[in-house]
Amino acid sequence: MEIQKAKCHSCGGEYEYRNSGNMIIFCPHCHHCDNVCCDFGFGPVTPCTIDMGTEKLGAITIEKDGRSEKYKLISEKYGIDTYLESSYMEAIGEAGRMISDRIENG
Ligand SMILES: [Zn+2]
Repeated sequence: MEIQKAKCHSCGGEYEYRNSGNMIIFCPHCHHCDNVCCDFGFGPVTPCTIDMGTEKLGAITIEKDGRSEKYKLISEKYGIDTYLESSYMEAIGEAGRMISDRIENG
């Protein structure tokens, strides 16, 4: 995977991250959700990785259930393995908020 550098929009700290196409990146310095990047409008928004800098926090995947698709958040680090209530871009936001809560509250 391609390692890229970014500057946090919130604290100005520089950090490295893996560019995976679909991703949510948290700043390792201030834990601000600094970058949400999806192939929105061009293809599926999953799998979407959730990283803090280059550290993997979790991922969003899709499970097919008959004709419907369920978005799922998996995080080994925080012991999360759950279906999301939302779908598509809203699911990305929902997962981002859940991980953000865990980062802040442990
Ligand atoms: Zn920051």
